[in-house]
Amino acid sequence: MFDTVLIANRGEIACRVIRTARRLGVRTVAVYSDADATARHVRLADDAVCIGPASARESYLNGERIIAAARASGAQAIHPGYGFLSENEQFAEACAASGLVFIGPPVAAIRAMGSKSAAKALMERAGVPLVPGYHGENQDAGFLAAESQRIGWPVLIKASAGGGGKGMRIVRSAGEFAAALASCRREAAASFGDDRVLIEKYLERPRHIEMQVFGDTLGNVVHLFERDCSVQRRHQKVLEEAPAPGMTATRRAAMGKAAVDAAKAVGYVGAGTVEFIVGADGTFHFMEMNTRLQVEHPVTEMITGLDLVEWQLRVAAGEPLPLAQEQLAIRGHAIEARIYAEDPDKGFLPSTGRLLHLSTPAESLHVRVDTGVEEGDEITPHYDPMIAKLIVRDDTRERACARMLQALAQYRVVGVANNIEFLSRLVACPAFAQADLDTGLIEREHDFLFPATTEPPREAWLSAALAELLREQAAADAAARLDADPHSPWHHRDGWRVNLGAPRRLTFRSGDVAKTMSVAYVDAGYRLEVDGQATAAHGEMLPGSQLRADFGGNRTAATVVAANERRHVFLHGHCYVFAAIDPLYHAGEGGGAEGGMTAPMPGKVIALVAKIGVRVEKGAPLLILEAMKMEHTICAPATGTVKAFRYAVGEQVTDGAELVDFEAK
Ligand code: ADP
Ligand code: ADP
Ligand code: MG
Repeated sequence: MFDTVLIANRGEIACRVIRTARRLGVRTVAVYSDADATARHVRLADDAVCIGPASARESYLNGERIIAAARASGAQAIHPGYGFLSENEQFAEACAASGLVFIGPPVAAIRAMGSKSAAKALMERAGVPLVPGYHGENQDAGFLAAESQRIGWPVLIKASAGGGGKGMRIVRSAGEFAAALASCRREAAASFGDDRVLIEKYLERPRHIEMQVFGDTLGNVVHLFERDCSVQRRHQKVLEEAPAPGMTATRRAAMGKAAVDAAKAVGYVGAGTVEFIVGADGTFHFMEMNTRLQVEHPVTEMITGLDLVEWQLRVAAGEPLPLAQEQLAIRGHAIEARIYAEDPDKGFLPSTGRLLHLSTPAESLHVRVDTGVEEGDEITPHYDPMIAKLIVRDDTRERACARMLQALAQYRVVGVANNIEFLSRLVACPAFAQADLDTGLIEREHDFLFPATTEPPREAWLSAALAELLREQAAADAAARLDADPHSPWHHRDGWRVNLGAPRRLTFRSGDVAKTMSVAYVDAGYRLEVDGQATAAHGEMLPGSQLRADFGGNRTAATVVAANERRHVFLHGHCYVFAAIDPLYHAGEGGGAEGGMTAPMPGKVIALVAKIGVRVEKGAPLLILEAMKMEHTICAPATGTVKAFRYAVGEQVTDGAELVDFEAK
């Protein structure tokens, strides 16, 4: 076994490789870009080397720098993870030329599978079933159109060099062909520096089922069963599971044999994945081979009890495969969900920012979290916005689904938009629950997956308010402990100061709905009135922003995270976001609006509400400031008009700054 391995990657996969290496007593060297100087993979590794600026091209894709780092740190081998240089034959070659072991297949195997067209030609000769199509050299547009006509519409145009779901176009009729081909070529040239394409029959409602294969340097090849990755969004995997629902022993054996034949045909060594597209009738066809560890390899690990990175290291060090085919068996069912910093409601646009709060489900025999980030870390625009992979296992698929729903409900992220609630709905949707899988599932279940936004339940409003009161109480208690007179009435948050006739009020806004709750301080808690209905409330805040509450005798466990003026209430698997509004400056609060024309404290202008020159009533909202963890609405001190705003949205204002030129009349 090697004594030192360099990991030429970042994020969760770098952390995951480090974990196994450490268990095997192998020293690890991380590489990182300037943007990742304090990243989790750097913190975990025994050693770390900076290899360049944030841009991947100048760091994680800079083979020369990485090889130099490996040599300088005394590493004997390089683990490339997935993505980046993992399927780059020049890099694998350069490693060998520098006397380093590339932990992956031989250069010839990477080359053979690097082009989808060439790989299909090779597989055809090896007797592996293919999707009907054209994967030859002729790239003439007229010829390709004629081939498509022969294959029969619809067809799929694919970039030969493609990957990651990019460079694909579905064409449903002859008239659309020329434009689709041109656009596919442009995308292929831009993304892969190679505009060659192949044509495939486009299968309707297919499943994506792939086989994990493993070879060693002694010529042994086994398969470690299948993974079903049919649940995709724009040809990219979202949920993956093993085994594939409905798989029979006969079909598994046939697909396993085809995958092992494919691997043997290219002299495969190490971990690889043979991807098949499966028709509604169960017929399977070779799609491509990925010559690396796959993102979703953990589901295979969970059902086999094996560590595939350990197998990779052993095979790369020249050892034989640890187990033979007949020693391998499936135990239970595993599902993986890819947790991304992206906004499902905005077309899954990636989101960046600091992870202000991050709590993850407890890991156990049933639950695994592979992540490259911790609370306080940042999701930057430089790399893939994956936050983590959440993997669960149980005896049956049904129980694994239940575990997944539970674990997703315990996964709480504040600071970036994320797909956690979307994933929960996906796992809960009837088609997924019934294992009615195919690549069109997400599109078909659109209405279930994107429900009209629901108003927060009463319990969520109460949780936001109670957490606020408990935090105030804790702050007052802390101040009292520091003070000479701990019994001073100023330290009690029981409304003594403010209850001169007027009850305490808390205002929160969710979307367009703002609610003001009045608070009465009673023995051992509060009486909260919202929507004209009062509820006795008490509870405590535990570490990790956890609220244990009792609302009128009903116990509730929620997580309430305060981030600036936002209060994120995680309740029953949903996240409700409220803005805390300072009631003194809020319209309709009566009084208090006087003098509200200046900034009450340093902050930022977040909205200009009133229209210039349009008459408003006294107390009407003019603009909104964000300051001191709250939103403050600046209201009209009298009936009149705004002549001008002195600041634009996004500008910072100092304490006491004049905000509005207002003319009363
Ligand atoms: P799979 O491995 O299952 O085929 P994908 O194709 O979605 O899954 O994932 C691999 C892709 O992820 C790479 O081809 C690349 O586009 C992207 N990627 C590359 N490097 C990283 C990385 N370090 N972290 C996350 N994603 C990466
Ligand atoms: P990539 O290299 O981007 O992973 P693949 O060839 O593996 O490209 O295809 C990605 C996805 O596109 C598949 O998982 C499947 O959902 C869809 N797909 C690929 N080929 C076909 C086909 N012939 N018919 C229907 N869908 C397909
Ligand atoms: Mg693929």
